Amino acid sequence: MAEYIASIDQGTTSTRCMIFDKSGSVIAVDQKEHEQIFPRAGWVEHDATEIWNNTRDVIGGALAKANLNSDNIDAVGITNQRETALVWDKTTGEPVCNAIVWQDTRTQKICDELAELGGGAERYKAKVGLPLATYFSAPKVRWILDNVDGAREKAEAGDLVFGNMDTWLLWNLTGGVERGGVHVTDVTNASRTMLMDLTTLSWDEEIAGEMKIPMSMLPEIKSSSEVYGECQGGALRGTPVAGILGDQQAATFGQVCFEVGTAKNTYGTGNFMLLNTGEEQVPSENGLLTTVCYKIGDNKPIYALEGAIAVTGSLVQWMRDNLGIIKTAPEIEDLAASVDDNGGAYFVPAFSGLFAPHWRSDARGALVGLTRFVNKGHIARAVLEATAFQTREVLDAMNADSGVPLKELRVDGGMVVNETLMQFQADILDVDVVRPKVAETTALGAAYAAGLAVGYWADEDDLRQNWGEDKRWTPNMDDDAREKTYRNWKKAVTKTLDWVDDDVD
Ligand code: ADP
Repeated sequence: MAEYIASIDQGTTSTRCMIFDKSGSVIAVDQKEHEQIFPRAGWVEHDATEIWNNTRDVIGGALAKANLNSDNIDAVGITNQRETALVWDKTTGEPVCNAIVWQDTRTQKICDELAELGGGAERYKAKVGLPLATYFSAPKVRWILDNVDGAREKAEAGDLVFGNMDTWLLWNLTGGVERGGVHVTDVTNASRTMLMDLTTLSWDEEIAGEMKIPMSMLPEIKSSSEVYGECQGGALRGTPVAGILGDQQAATFGQVCFEVGTAKNTYGTGNFMLLNTGEEQVPSENGLLTTVCYKIGDNKPIYALEGAIAVTGSLVQWMRDNLGIIKTAPEIEDLAASVDDNGGAYFVPAFSGLFAPHWRSDARGALVGLTRFVNKGHIARAVLEATAFQTREVLDAMNADSGVPLKELRVDGGMVVNETLMQFQADILDVDVVRPKVAETTALGAAYAAGLAVGYWADEDDLRQNWGEDKRWTPNMDDDAREKTYRNWKKAVTKTLDWVDDDVD
């Protein structure tokens, strides 16, 4: 008898398959990293064929570790790095070039040109909830059609299709070229393309026209929780694919943030805070994104406000890989604990500009406030504090946009094992920070969406029961100290702006 749900988590650095039981516990996991391809400064690519091969391997690996086969799996869900754009030939199954990753900034010129048509960076915001930025998929697709030999002709002939990683994996899992794979995405991924109207949940022909993207390339938009098709072949043969959520929306779902006003913050390569705003789309006046949080089957869509921060955990990696001050990421905590405070140093990691709430592509990183007193312990602290300060900026924006101050913050992701950071986070936000027992919220969220679609879990109440608190950090900093250090942070941010000149790539 089948008794588990599988989840495929196609992330920026790796692909994982996790098997969950009814209590939301992890039964098995297999994971494979893929190559990060940097052809030039600012460009980031992935080989989509490598990712598909890794996906097949980790599905087989996870099932083997748990000694299970497809008969034991009721459904499979997919969660994925969002925005990363792929174009492939549906007659051959071959990508026309590498996938262009969300962090890639090559489309700045395309974005600037579109902004000049009128409305500036906010040209499409009322419809799609997003500012014009290199981050989102549509300008990446436009770049591929403009720059890959023969791509535009083939696209206009109807041979090329677009998809984010969810769509690419679903198409391959459900049969690809040979057996008519389905070309579908879910509302959460579609909401990050800049092409989906947030109200109608359908592609906007006018925007696609301005972006010069043929409508025939776009996948069909479905809910986040329904049966899209069955796996054809492979270790999960015959298993329905029944849930898709972009990674941050999946983490929100895995954290069971089902009530209006609940929020989660994921601390990974970057940070992503999502606040559930219910059936209401809240337009941001403070640099946040309005996005679809999830849509379960025929139910109404639930929206979210999102604060996306490009560099948080990756600053720790940078300390490790580019400076060699630490050998492993966890060592940063020991180094930070060697001093009492940041010694006056502030590190603003605007390595690829600043995302929320600033959206400044002209910013670059800065380490300020240095004196002879500052040592590597202080810098380690400044690195950790950078994550907490950036989160405070986003939380302030959320409170301003929603009008309701957040009371506590649910956290997850690779950095939340860092107790020093979590305590400082509670101090600087002045709200409780709460870590759940199941930390794998992203994969869990996609499993939940798939399991709901096939009746493995009955309803949201079933899922709420699986959530348990592991640890809570309460604020322990006096107001004066908090506001003084945050004021310094804001000053440090101003030092990073206006750095990139127009004549420099
Ligand atoms: P992603 O899903 O974005 O790949 P993860 O959630 O796996 O990221 O988190 C990995 C990030 O967490 C890395 O950037 C790493 O530098 C950071 N990290 C891991 N352990 C620690 C730690 N103990 N303290 C601070 N940062 C850490």
